[in-house]
Amino acid sequence: MIGFPVSHSRSPAIFRFLAEREGVKDFSYAATEVKPEHLPTFISTIKSDREFIGLNVTLPHKEEILPYLDSLSSEARCLGAVNVVRKNQEKVEGHNTDVIGILRTLDAHRCRIEGEDAWIWGAGGAARAVAFSLGERRARCVHVFNRDHSRAQRLVAQLEPRFPDTCFRASRSPDDTGSRPLSLLVNATPIGMKDVLVTDLSPAFPFMGALPMTRYASAFDLVYVPEKTPFLSRAEELGIFPIGGLGMLVDQAIATWELWFGSLQQPIESREALMVHLRETLRSRAEDSRPIFLTGFMGVGKSTVAQSLGQQLGWDCVDTDHLVAQGASMSIPRIFELEGESGFRAREVVAVAQCAGLLRTVVALGGGGITDPKSLELILRSGHLVFLSAETGALEERLKRTAHTRPLLAGLSPEMRLEKIHSLLADRMPLYERAKLRVSTDGRSPQDVADEVLRRLP
Ligand code: NAP
Repeated sequence: MIGFPVSHSRSPAIFRFLAEREGVKDFSYAATEVKPEHLPTFISTIKSDREFIGLNVTLPHKEEILPYLDSLSSEARCLGAVNVVRKNQEKVEGHNTDVIGILRTLDAHRCRIEGEDAWIWGAGGAARAVAFSLGERRARCVHVFNRDHSRAQRLVAQLEPRFPDTCFRASRSPDDTGSRPLSLLVNATPIGMKDVLVTDLSPAFPFMGALPMTRYASAFDLVYVPEKTPFLSRAEELGIFPIGGLGMLVDQAIATWELWFGSLQQPIESREALMVHLRETLRSRAEDSRPIFLTGFMGVGKSTVAQSLGQQLGWDCVDTDHLVAQGASMSIPRIFELEGESGFRAREVVAVAQCAGLLRTVVALGGGGITDPKSLELILRSGHLVFLSAETGALEERLKRTAHTRPLLAGLSPEMRLEKIHSLLADRMPLYERAKLRVSTDGRSPQDVADEVLRRLP
């Protein structure tokens, strides 16, 4: 997936989950930040890379990518936006799965659209896809309300020629929908999303009660965190059937998978399983923002796994070794030289205590960061401790190359180094094992390890 930034994306977790379920081997999916100026080079690189299957595309490239593609699906052409690229030999095709995600969601809830009136709040990319879907299903009239009225007007002008059976109207006020009852209300703005516009929530929906509605009307909110949004709660109060945005997210992902690999082996079961998986990850992420501490022996890859976890969660990353060096305005080897290991450990205790109070942060602990009993208790009380393990042989191999940068190993002969590694491991293993979770890093990429941590953390 490409975008700028991409750190909040849930796509890596979704597609790795599907790959695992479908038993697709050697599957690799990564979220990569591509700056707008690098987009043309990126596309020409993937064209010649035979291993590449496709891309998900997110902001700000959804529109900018169009000129670099060899062909476009009819949805992508009409919407002027691409969120999925499929490679076909050396050609790249642009698709838009928003529409299929919306249609499958509306169909799953048996929403009546043909010949009915609907109302959309918002005029961005998602609103355009909703309006397109309603045109496809031959709605009678689609009212589009947006705070920037000119954007709603542009949306209407774009879709009208494509769907002559549907009338599209840009409304000047939320309740400007005429007297005919509506069968569908759609929130295609981020209002109600967790951490967004919290102050807008209560005054945002009073007009909903004033709109004429059919008795079989539904309210569809594209926001999926939280699952029960204020828009949906208000709809329920008014007796309107609520439909959340999670199903659309899942259906879009499945449509993307189908473009790349063909049909799922068990489409219904996979949809349900993905829904459960996402619901669990979203809920646990929403509710538990205490820090995740990564511990394990030096060289095990705590910092790279921390970065990958931070990217997937959209959390900050800190490294206690960096905090110590920063606090002392000296490198770690220099602290060891001037203050000895005990001086370093005293500083490390302070750094760990600072991290214990942080929220939404992944903390890579130094290899000995849990040797102080008080620090260990503090970590266990204030967050989640995860032990990243590796075979001793693998650690020895990795440390051969970097031993000179590690004060506890630098200057030792190969035999003494091995002895030191073994004795440190023996001392620390009981402490590492106090962690809530142990995840092996042997032969795995940091992303793989991060995925397992996220899957298994309660
Ligand atoms: P977008 O292109 O940035 O458009 C955002 C829209 O929301 C614009 O119409 C904007 O109005 C309006 N808006 C933003 N803040 C507002 C506020 N405070 N008050 C009133 N209107 C406001 O975003 P998008 O891609 O269309 O996405 C919209 C929402 O749909 C997001 O929450 C996104 O997460 C969700 N979504 C969900 C799925 C899914 O799978 N469930 C898929 C796609 C999108 P202006 O034009 O006046 O700025």
